[in-house]
Amino acid sequence: MLTVDLDAVAENYRSLRGVLNGAECGAVVKADSYGLGMAQVSRRLAAEGCRSFFVSCIDEAIRLRDILQPGNATIHVFDGLPPGAEQLFDQYALSPVLGDLDQIARWAAHGRAHGGRSAVIKIDTGMARLGLTEAEVNVLAAEPERLDGLTLDYVMSHLSCADEDGNQMNAAQLTTFQTLRAKLPNAKASLANSAGISLGAEYHFDLVRPGAALYGILNAPNQSSAMKQVVNLKGKILRLRDVDSNQTVGYGASHQVTKGRRLATVAIGYADGYSRSLGNRATGFVGSKKVSLVGRVSMDLITFDVTGAPDEFLTPDGPGCPGGNVELIGPGHGVDDLAREAGTIGYEILSGLGPRVHRVYLGEAD
Ligand SMILES: *Cc1c(COP(=O)(O)O)cnc(C)c1O
Repeated sequence: MLTVDLDAVAENYRSLRGVLNGAECGAVVKADSYGLGMAQVSRRLAAEGCRSFFVSCIDEAIRLRDILQPGNATIHVFDGLPPGAEQLFDQYALSPVLGDLDQIARWAAHGRAHGGRSAVIKIDTGMARLGLTEAEVNVLAAEPERLDGLTLDYVMSHLSCADEDGNQMNAAQLTTFQTLRAKLPNAKASLANSAGISLGAEYHFDLVRPGAALYGILNAPNQSSAMKQVVNLKGKILRLRDVDSNQTVGYGASHQVTKGRRLATVAIGYADGYSRSLGNRATGFVGSKKVSLVGRVSMDLITFDVTGAPDEFLTPDGPGCPGGNVELIGPGHGVDDLAREAGTIGYEILSGLGPRVHRVYLGEAD
C-alpha cells in the first residue's frame, strides 16, 4: 500500500514558492506525477494556487485537462507538437513546447489560420535531446516571419547538471540560454527544474518547473532536508515462516537461511516496480526494527528475514493470520535510501511503482 501525503506535496510546493522572488512556481506532473497519481496531485496543487502544469505527452495532457479547467491551468506538453495534432491541442486547450523548426512552422501556420496562437519554444543549451539548436535559433532570428501567427509566450531550456552545485555546466548553460534567448522576440523565460531552483535566483527567470522536490525526492544535497517526505510504502505480509531446518530462499537459491530464523513473505515484486536489483540488498522496517530482504526479488513476492521483529507488527490480526506489513519506504528509510540500495535514483523508484500498488491519499482537495 502506497500512502501519498498530499499535505506534504502542498507544503513542498509552498516552500519552493517561498524561495522565489516573483517567479511563478509551476508543477511537473508527467508520468502520473512520478507514479503518485496525477489526478490527486494536480487537484491539490491547483487548490494551492498552481496554474502552470507540465506533462510529457498529449495523452497525459488530455487526461489532465479532464481534471483541470482551462481557466484554471495552463498545460504544457514537453514532447511538443506531433504532426497533425494541432486540432487536438486546440480542443483541449494545450500548449505544445515547440522543440524544432518544423513544429514552429506548423503551429505558426495554425495560428495564422485561426487568429493567432501563443507559443512556447524550447532551446537546447546542453542536453542534446529536444529543443532548437543554436543554428536553428539563428534561422529564426534571421527569418522572424517564421513566427508570424504566434505570440511568443515563453522561451524554455533544461539544465543537465543542476543537482551538482559546483558543476560548471550550470553557469555555461545559463550563459547560452541568455545568449540564445536574446536572439528571439522578447518573451518570458523558464529554465529551472527542482535542483535548478536551489542554484539561486539567477536561474529562476519567470517560471520554474519542479517535479522531484514536490514529491520529496532528493534532488540537490542542500535542498533535501527542506523537502517533506511524501510517500510511505508498505508491503503486506502473506506468510510468516519459522524456519525449522537449514534451507535456501527464492529463485536461484541465492540466500541460505538457518534453523531458528523467521521469514516473512511479502506481496510486492518487480512487476510492481520493486526492482529486481534489490535482491539480497534492500532493507525495510517492521516497527522500529530494521530488517533485510533475503533472496531474489520475484515478480510478485519478496522475502524478508524478520527474526527478532516485534510480533505485534507482524501479526496484528492474530496468530496464524498474518496481517502485518514490512515498511519498504518510510520515515527511517526514504525513497532515496531505497534507490541507493537498488543502484538507481528516487525518480525511477517512484515513477516505476505499478498500478497494482494500492494508493491511499491523505489531504485530497475537494
Ligand atoms: C522532468 C522535467 C522537469 C522536472 O524535473 P525535476 O528534476 O523532477 O524537478 C523539468 N523540466 C523538464 C523539461 C523536464 O523534463
